[in-house]
Order: sequence, then structure tokens, then C-alpha cells
Amino acid sequence: MTESPANALCKACGLCCSGHLFSWVRLNANELDPVQNLGVPVIRNDPRQRGFTQPCPLWHGACTVYTSHAYPRSCAKYKCQVLRRLEDNDLSLPDALTIIQETLTLIREIEALLSDPKTLSFRERLIAHKEELESKRMDLDGEFLQKTKILLARYEDLFGVDDFIDYEK
Ligand code: SF4
Repeated sequence: MTESPANALCKACGLCCSGHLFSWVRLNANELDPVQNLGVPVIRNDPRQRGFTQPCPLWHGACTVYTSHAYPRSCAKYKCQVLRRLEDNDLSLPDALTIIQETLTLIREIEALLSDPKTLSFRERLIAHKEELESKRMDLDGEFLQKTKILLARYEDLFGVDDFIDYEK
């Protein structure tokens, strides 16, 4: 069976599951046990932050629980702007894949400049490093902040992710 353009795009990307666009995924109270049973450590104590952190352990080049009854509601609802434009025929698949590849290349370049341990998501490390440099007024014209500025503009303009502080998927 031929793969749909949307599937091809999401498999080439994964940024909304890998901790690059978001740091965590919100869950409703009735999703906590089913999602935990999928093998995901869930955060359940604070009702304002019920969910799980990213990178999602269920992402292996594609979502491995896409057809499960426990597939999180936030994941089912979420579509980035690239995907929406593809589905609306406002963007061709080759152009959409080019956006993804260029973004992944930029992320790899920034990743090489981040020294923090990889126990946190890329997004959390990016914010922490950016804020540290800015608060100390260090290296303001340096490569890291320049590339981060371009990446955040891409997130906002191309992916529709404009709030880099709110971690909700
Ligand atoms: S459950 Fe699936 S869609 Fe949701 S964050 Fe994990 S891998 Fe992505």
C-alpha cells in the first residue's frame, strides 16, 4: 500500500515527539494509567502538569502506539503547521520535506554547541543555555544565539509553535 504524504512527512520528522518542539505532553486524569501501562513514566501529582516528558519513549522512527486505545488525546489532536499546510494542499510533499531536513540540519548544528548532559530534552537544554548566555550578556553575537534565533523563527513561522516557554504539546 502506498504511504500517505502525511505519514511520509511525520516519519521523516518526529520533532513533536522527540523533545525538539515540546518538552512534555499533557494527559487527562483518565489517561494516566493507560499511558503508564504503555511503558511511559507519567507525572500525576500536579493536576496542572499531568502528563509525560519528552523525548517520548514510544517514538522509534514513528509512533509505536498510534493505533492503541491508549493513544494520548493530545497526540491525536496535534498537527503542526507544516502538516496542516500539506493536508490543505498549500505545500507539496517535497517542499514540506525540505523544511524538515533544513530544520533537522540546524538542530544538529545547535546540538553540537550544547554541552549539557543529554538527560534533558533538546528544548529544555536550548532554553537553559540561551537564558544563561543572555542573563550573563555573554556571546550575544555568537554562533549559538544566532542559530537559536533562526531556529525559533522557523518554529514559529513554519511549524506554528510560537510559545517557547509553555511546554504543552
Ligand atoms: S505517544 Fe506517539 S505521538 Fe505521542 S508523543 Fe509519544 S511517540 Fe509521539
